Amino acid sequence: MKILVLNSGSSSIKFQLFNMEKEEVLAKGQVERIGIEGSAIEYENMEGQEVEKDIDISNHRDGIEHIIEMLLDTEVGILENIDEINAVGHRVVHGGEKFAESTLITDEVINSIEEVSSLAPLHNPHNLSGIKVCQELLPGKPQVAVFDTAFHQTMPEEAYTYAIPYEYYEKYGVRRYGFHGTSHKFVSNRVAEIMDKDKNDLKIITCHLGNGASIAAIDGGESVDTSMGMTPLEGLVMGTRSGDIDPAIIPFLMDKEDLDTKEIDNILNKESGLLGVSGVSNDSRDVRQAAQDGNHRAELADKVFNYRVRKYIGAYIAALNGVDAVVFTGGIGENAAGVREHILDGLDNLGFELDPKANKVRGEEREITTDDSAVKAFVIPTNEELVIARDTENIVENK
Ligand code: ADP
Repeated sequence: MKILVLNSGSSSIKFQLFNMEKEEVLAKGQVERIGIEGSAIEYENMEGQEVEKDIDISNHRDGIEHIIEMLLDTEVGILENIDEINAVGHRVVHGGEKFAESTLITDEVINSIEEVSSLAPLHNPHNLSGIKVCQELLPGKPQVAVFDTAFHQTMPEEAYTYAIPYEYYEKYGVRRYGFHGTSHKFVSNRVAEIMDKDKNDLKIITCHLGNGASIAAIDGGESVDTSMGMTPLEGLVMGTRSGDIDPAIIPFLMDKEDLDTKEIDNILNKESGLLGVSGVSNDSRDVRQAAQDGNHRAELADKVFNYRVRKYIGAYIAALNGVDAVVFTGGIGENAAGVREHILDGLDNLGFELDPKANKVRGEEREITTDDSAVKAFVIPTNEELVIARDTENIVENK
């Protein structure tokens, strides 16, 4: 079965075409700067042939048409006929309380995704436009929605309830939902396989540390808590997001700086985190480099980032009443040995013993604790697209 996986954002669409027999990627790439000057498509096929073209892409329909064109291209394409695509899997950011698993897309499902869009106004409408364009361009092909929030729907009430008047939950759905669910699910399942244990018998903490970052507590294969909240702003320090702050800071700053809700939202989402503290960059590599060059604020940003992760690991060990394994994934989690070292070095009292040699790994699956370490830690590269493709295949085969 050939499955096209699409991640439709506000100004970009990322795609991968899978052949599910061998779970191999036949082609992948992205269209960028949709509706903005300088739009382009990047494409790469399994033979390593790459194409980068500047083309006018004014909307999602244009973008997906160009993706299909590349897949059918006589030189670099890998399809002879569009009908070779058996199904499309879409990443959808917010499924609210409606979706606890991936779902075959019907008119009713589209309506439900629209209904929860107020919880993710920057994401869901773009995900939806990808879905609608595919319905037009690939008529009759089954389409599946895979939600970032779905894996966390197993959280108990006490983990997802905010201690504010309960009516806001009832009226507007204000509660913790959590995100990065496909990633947390993928790496937690994978670590059970690597450990050769049944996931039902394991307590796992997964740290997805990328530009966006979140951490999850997983008990017996189910998410029981996670650091992102109603939106992806809560929890860990991120590239440009603050993560946890005292909520009273918001009205305080609005008052002092004469800000409206959009402006304060922008500050917390786009101007905070590593960028806000360091003043250097949202990219952790630049921040670390500046820290090494003696920039105090960059060093501080790095420390605040690591300390927050360590604190959450401690909290989740309490939430789970123990832990068998911690997993690092995402651009930082997979690549930044120094970050993993700083996080785990402060946790030796809780049973972690890092193997500094093993920890030198980059972007590869590997155990990074010693044989004697009471709690194991692993690096596991995430693969959200593969999860979307697998879920899509499963649903299409069983429909
Ligand atoms: P996103 O959340 O946008 O998917 P990624 O998971 O790609 O982001 O993570 C981006 C982060 O990963 C950046 O802060 C970047 O500095 C970091 N990163 C990527 N590659 C490396 C590397 N080789 N060494 C250290 N950090 C890296």
